[in-house]
Parts: sequence; structure tokens; C-alpha cells
Amino acid sequence: MAKREGRCRLCLKNGALSKEHVPPKAAGNCGRVRTSHALDFIRDPSTETGRILQNGAWTYSLCEECNGLLGRHYVPEYVKWAKWFLHEYNIWVPGLVPVYLRDVYPLRFLKQAVSMLFSVNGDEFARGFEPISSWVRSPEARAWHWNCRVYLTLAHGNVGRGWNLVYRGGKDSAMFTEIALTPFSVQLVLEQERDDRPGDITWFARYGYNERADLCFALPCGFLASAVPAHFASPEEVERARAKARRIREDESRGDGTP
Ligand SMILES: [Zn+2]
Repeated sequence: MAKREGRCRLCLKNGALSKEHVPPKAAGNCGRVRTSHALDFIRDPSTETGRILQNGAWTYSLCEECNGLLGRHYVPEYVKWAKWFLHEYNIWVPGLVPVYLRDVYPLRFLKQAVSMLFSVNGDEFARGFEPISSWVRSPEARAWHWNCRVYLTLAHGNVGRGWNLVYRGGKDSAMFTEIALTPFSVQLVLEQERDDRPGDITWFARYGYNERADLCFALPCGFLASAVPAHFASPEEVERARAKARRIREDESRGDGTP
């Protein structure tokens, strides 16, 4: 396995980092993907360049120990869910959709989902959220920090997103981080006490590591067509917004050039 020296973004130990797919390769992260980076997007909101990877999105973010722990304890559950949504689920309509999952381990799915957000963020994230990184690294741990909420959106499209902490303004302002690749977008929102929003799966933390359940709930469903974090507009809407941004830039450049 390819290796690189560095600091693990989950346990913060220095040493050999292993190359890993985030999300897991078997969870659909194996085709040609475009990952749009935050800075590229800020420079040019209509960017279509991003980074094209031919065999899924991967990174050097975790040490072998953490990588192995996730692989043993959580990845199989995450992959099982992803495969089910990719191959069996058939209610892909924008909006809130019903989901029925039989005989699953909710806590294992949640821990894998949250671990991927540590990979997306730098090691300062693990320093800032040490209790959450400990919670990920201890399969049996159940003490979640309830002012951090985890959201799941069913999403499909040809864009992959990995956003480290960003601030969303407006009346629903929040700091959040996201990882998105068909069929899921996972978002961790900080300092948010309300738990009645669609897609909130923070309650999975109430299950035990070995606790199975039949789940019946509703999830938001949308498209992955845009680089904007937690944005699920359709390809047509994204194209309209791009065309508008192009027109504005063209008008501006014409304005600058006119004496
Ligand atoms: Zn580690």
C-alpha cells in the first residue's frame, strides 16, 4: 500500500499515513469523479475544472491504525447502506423521501460518516473536536456532543464534494462541513441544538455498537450537480446559475474596458 509521512487527521499521531478512498471505494467511490476544491470555487463560482480522478476520490489523511479501525468496525456497514441505495432504492425524487432499512447498525454507519469529515478537514479539526474524534476511535463510545448535528441527504450526480468547515450566513446561519458523493451527502453542523430538521441522523448515536435496528424514517433527496456545499439543485438549475454568473462577468469585463 502506498504511504506518506504526516499527521493523522483523526488521532493526531505523526507517522506513516495510508492511502485511502474517502468515502470507501466499495461505497461507489471507484469511477471517474470530479472533486471541486473550496479555493477553486471561491475564485470562480462557475468553475468546471476541479480535479478529475479516474478511480474514485482518495487521500492520505489517516494513519494505518485509524484506517484499519474504520475498516474493521464501520466501513462494512457504510458500504452496505451505500450499495443498497445505489442498487435497490428507487424513490429518487427531489424532496423528502421515505426510507426503510432492515437489520442495520445505525451507530456504525454514523461513526463512518463522521470519520470521513475528519479526513476532509485538516488536523486542526481533530484538535478542535477531540471528544468527537475519540468517539469515532472507540467503537463502543456513545457520549455524543448533542450540539453537533449530523445530517444525511440522499443525493446523486456527477459531482463529489469535500468541504472543510464553512460558514453559511442568513437566518439559518451555521458552521458546517460536508462530504458528498453519490448516494450520500453527510454534513456535520456545529452549535445547533434543534433536532427536528429533515435529514438529522444524530439520533443514531443513541444506539450501541452491536445494536441492530429496523429503521423507518424520511430523508431529503437531491442532486449532486453543484460545487456549492450542501446544495442540491438540479443540473438544469445549476446550469442556469452558471449562465447568469457568466453574463455578469462578461458585463463587468466590458464595463472595465470601456473608457
Ligand atoms: Zn490515526
